[in-house]
Amino acid sequence: MSPEAQGRLLLKETAACLEKAGVQDSRREARDLIRQALAGSGVPPRGGDIPGDWNLGSTQREWLKDAIQKRVCGVPMAYIAGWTPFFNLELEISPAVLDPRPETEELAERVVASLTGAAPAWIVDVGCGSGCLGLAVASVFREAKLFAVDISSAALEVCRHNGVRWAAGRFAAWQGDLLGAVRRWPAGAGVVVANLPYVERGDAINGRLAANVLEHEPATALFPPVGEDVNALFGRFFRDVARLGVPQCGLWLEIGEGQGASLSALAGDSLGVAAGVGLDRAGRERFLFAGCVQKPANAGFTG
Ligand code: GLN
Repeated sequence: MSPEAQGRLLLKETAACLEKAGVQDSRREARDLIRQALAGSGVPPRGGDIPGDWNLGSTQREWLKDAIQKRVCGVPMAYIAGWTPFFNLELEISPAVLDPRPETEELAERVVASLTGAAPAWIVDVGCGSGCLGLAVASVFREAKLFAVDISSAALEVCRHNGVRWAAGRFAAWQGDLLGAVRRWPAGAGVVVANLPYVERGDAINGRLAANVLEHEPATALFPPVGEDVNALFGRFFRDVARLGVPQCGLWLEIGEGQGASLSALAGDSLGVAAGVGLDRAGRERFLFAGCVQKPANAGFTG
């Protein structure tokens, strides 16, 4: 069999394996996995078709076998590959951070759209994980300084790698509980973005959180700390922001479906400014904003 035919066969077999395990876009993922297996031998890890004349060595075959096994068991693709595309970036990802969600990407787009004509001097990303949200916004506002904070030191390690790659010279990250360690905002107008853990622990028990998320993604990024529920955690966050003053370019958060009314009321009470709820493309309430935010002319906003 020619190397081309062998390659096609392996691609087909890999896709069939993934499809059988219920992976949705099995052919694309099979291509991604093979491309990743080849990454050490000059094939770029993403984009376009795999060249016709590739061949996997024995180590690469072992890697691929192991990767297929993990994927079949529900491990997110980003953890297997060690990176994911996000916004216009390529981010390092490990099981210490969430696999960035499309809605988080959408939130980054909303934040950027809201800042048209008002470039922020700084961006603070609270509960930064991989840094995806803050780095996406910072990739558009290239003069802005990015400050990222997370309670998890393992997450910060990932964030620092991404910060050095995508916001070199204007990036700082530190370990902390929300904004507890911040005494004042940096100079100038800034924006705060946050994807805090907003899944109630009860939702993991009653099956409202997908089993593979619960099994593979970091609990610290999903659930409020033990002893707090979502309202308590967000209440503490809003009080932190109120102590520092609502930032001039506003405050943006990702929230869970069904949390819009309670969290916007909580934000309004703590911050003393109106808070609004933004809908994602599927029409679900997934974003919360407060402060001097210009609402884009977009029907997906309420409040
Ligand atoms: N969107 C994630 C999920 O539903 C949760 C992320 C978070 O709590 N910040 O799996």
